Amino acid sequence: MVQGIANWSTEQSREWLQSYVDDWVAFYRKHTGDGKVATYIPELAKANPDALGITIIGKNGLTVRSGEVDEPFTIQSISKVLSFIVACMERGVAYMLDRVDVEPTGEAFNSIMHLEMKQVKKPLNPFVNAGAITVTSTLNGRTSDEKIEPIFALLEKIIGYRPSLDIDVYESERDSSMRNRAIGYYLLETGYLESDMNTTLETYFKQCSIKVTVDDLARIGLILANDGEDIDTFEEIIPRPIARIAKALMLTCGMYDASGKFATYVGIPAKSGVSGGIIGAVPPRVREEVLPFMEGCGIGVYGPALDDNGNSVSGIRLLRHVASQWDLSIF
Ligand code: GLU
Repeated sequence: MVQGIANWSTEQSREWLQSYVDDWVAFYRKHTGDGKVATYIPELAKANPDALGITIIGKNGLTVRSGEVDEPFTIQSISKVLSFIVACMERGVAYMLDRVDVEPTGEAFNSIMHLEMKQVKKPLNPFVNAGAITVTSTLNGRTSDEKIEPIFALLEKIIGYRPSLDIDVYESERDSSMRNRAIGYYLLETGYLESDMNTTLETYFKQCSIKVTVDDLARIGLILANDGEDIDTFEEIIPRPIARIAKALMLTCGMYDASGKFATYVGIPAKSGVSGGIIGAVPPRVREEVLPFMEGCGIGVYGPALDDNGNSVSGIRLLRHVASQWDLSIF
């Protein structure tokens, strides 16, 4: 672990942090061969399997970036954090928690086994597809463009520009995602959906196809780390109780079936997606020595080669290393 020094915010210490991260990215890039890019959405198969990038932005603005930081990718499941936040802002937390639970499933993200076998009354959490599609169905608006607009508006506030849709990925998922359609029909049959199934799925495929970079993910992570408040203007971008629920869900359900291991070995609220993105929100921590990013930070990672759990293989290892070196765990 790095030694504590008096102040990690000087230019010289930033250069140290940068050189550490450059070395770690170079090292973990060699691990990308242990994973495979997702192919079940055909367009995602075109990603560069050797890419690895990370951005860390501290509450004081201290920024470290390394690797493929400018390569855009689709946000995929990380959008489920945003749609849940927007739905809570539109409908209220109580309303949403009546419709979707906050428990880890231990099943694949696109499974409906629990819903079927245990006859539970609502999807187990908003980050499995059944829960996410249910959440998307509650968004205000009649068309998919109306429903997705507040997600774009929230993103624009946080990242400072309006992101675009990757139309090729959107069409690729729309035309191939039989499983999500099956989930949609199941949810329709069981009465979970609150709007037209096709509009809901169209919105869901669109939200997954929003193009971002690791810088964008780090900015979103930073707002969450800061309980929803903009670090410069102090504006409440996300109400604090909603930001806290989002982080709790990220910690317990954010990394597919590896969420428990990730919480144990890395210890930060995070969410991953099949395109290889990971967002992390590191709240301020209390330690005796002065450590890098002590006042909290947001992290964005991109590495499209995935492990067996569907998480970025080198991204997870890189994050675990950074977290252990800089003692980022919230525990
Ligand atoms: N659009 C993807 C799907 O629904 C997102 C999955 C993910 O990133 O986990 O299958």
